[in-house]
Amino acid sequence: MGTEQYIEEFLAWVRKRNEHQPEYLQAVSEIVADIAGEVDDNPNFERDNVLYYLAEPDRAITFRVSWLDDNGNVRVNRGWRVQHSGLLGPYKGGLRFHTSVNLSVLKFLAFEQTFKNALTGLSIGGAKGGADFDPRNASSREVMRFCQAFMNELYRHIGPNTDVPAGDINVGKREIGYLFGQYRRLVNQFNGTLTGKPLEFGGSHVRVESTGYGLVYFLAHMLGDTGEDILGKRVAVSGAGNVALHAAAKAASMGARVVSLSCSKGTLSVPDGMSEKAIRSIVDDPRSSKERLLDIRKITGGEWIDDCTPWHLPCDIALPCATQNELGEQDARDLVSNGCRLVAEGANMPCTEGAIRTFEKHQIRHAPGKASNAGGVAVSVLEMAQNASFKAESYSDLDDELKAIMKRIHQQCVDFGREGEHVNYRRGANIAAFRRLSRAMIGQGIG
Ligand code: NDP
Repeated sequence: MGTEQYIEEFLAWVRKRNEHQPEYLQAVSEIVADIAGEVDDNPNFERDNVLYYLAEPDRAITFRVSWLDDNGNVRVNRGWRVQHSGLLGPYKGGLRFHTSVNLSVLKFLAFEQTFKNALTGLSIGGAKGGADFDPRNASSREVMRFCQAFMNELYRHIGPNTDVPAGDINVGKREIGYLFGQYRRLVNQFNGTLTGKPLEFGGSHVRVESTGYGLVYFLAHMLGDTGEDILGKRVAVSGAGNVALHAAAKAASMGARVVSLSCSKGTLSVPDGMSEKAIRSIVDDPRSSKERLLDIRKITGGEWIDDCTPWHLPCDIALPCATQNELGEQDARDLVSNGCRLVAEGANMPCTEGAIRTFEKHQIRHAPGKASNAGGVAVSVLEMAQNASFKAESYSDLDDELKAIMKRIHQQCVDFGREGEHVNYRRGANIAAFRRLSRAMIGQGIG
């Protein structure tokens, strides 16, 4: 059978099995388009059904999370852990607590994570988990009781050599602390099963900053590849969470003009740019994203625009750092016509398929999250190594390691994605990760 027909049949099979999971289908289709050539060049991939194998998670665990609210009422949520692939090491990937969490979202995130983790060159498999619970609508005691109830089930499925969860949307140091405390009590072991822990009990320097900083280190390499520099570039950032703020602060510190931050309620536009100090002033602030952004405006001036994304603002570079599918086709057209020439994803799959097509049509350099936001998981692995050896590394050594990892990931994208003058970062990332995963699958024997 020809490769085209094989891929078509494969996609039909994936669609049939995951009919009501649009995010998962989107993630699989995006990768398959890039690796068709690999399948063509390696007849054993078809023989061993590599694509089919990689498109089915190792397991997806669903569980009830029941907990007591402050009024003594029993509340019930749903929790999940999707362990997508253990081919390259212990499962690794974040936990997301948000009302939009469902199996489709977690399957797409776990699938992306598998490819991202392969790209880091480190020994980690891919997973993702979470619950349809929003800690922002709960008191701190309720968040603690929820995390404990969540861990009462999750602990059976994780461990330092089995599965090592971390944070993601709405799961920061506080939540990881509560989850870790309950895990430690249940298994009577202090080990590196969760990453993103506070520094006082097993956390690592640079972990909190790593995704945002890593994104900007990657961006600097993308610019360097065409002889450019970040200095003076107008950078539009979306989001006001962990990834967005650290990316914005690092970009500002390197001389970029950060012209926006945003949240689910709107966008703060500052055409003259925000200072690093102003951005850092809200990093540890527990209030809502909008309240914090309005505080920045008091320092920097600028305009608050309700119910609006940053993608219509003039900029040279866009860093989507909020959530999946936050940047659509029309947004991409607006970016192109307003001067944007480069997009690097801080969030996971923030650009829709239509947006990606638009970037390709206009030769906009576009780095997928699996490459440009891999700094977070990479430093998580450094946290695991520190926990296993009972030795803490210094901030500057870890920052140097992060820089080296982002450089390596960038180089892989260039090596596998170079198309004449242009680098197709998405294609490069997908091919590099797929090669590692397919070799591991075949090398470990079918089973
Ligand atoms: P946070 O919870 O810290 O922040 C999320 C931010 O995005 C908030 O400001 C939130 O605003 C905003 N946001 C969420 N949903 C929307 C929406 N629909 N429209 C507009 N804004 C929205 O999350 P993180 O910064 O940790 O994660 C952001 C992204 O980065 C996610 O895609 C995540 O998977 C990815 N990522 C995170 C890593 C990490 O280390 N934390 C690692 C790699 C990827 P509001 O508060 O108003 O909802």
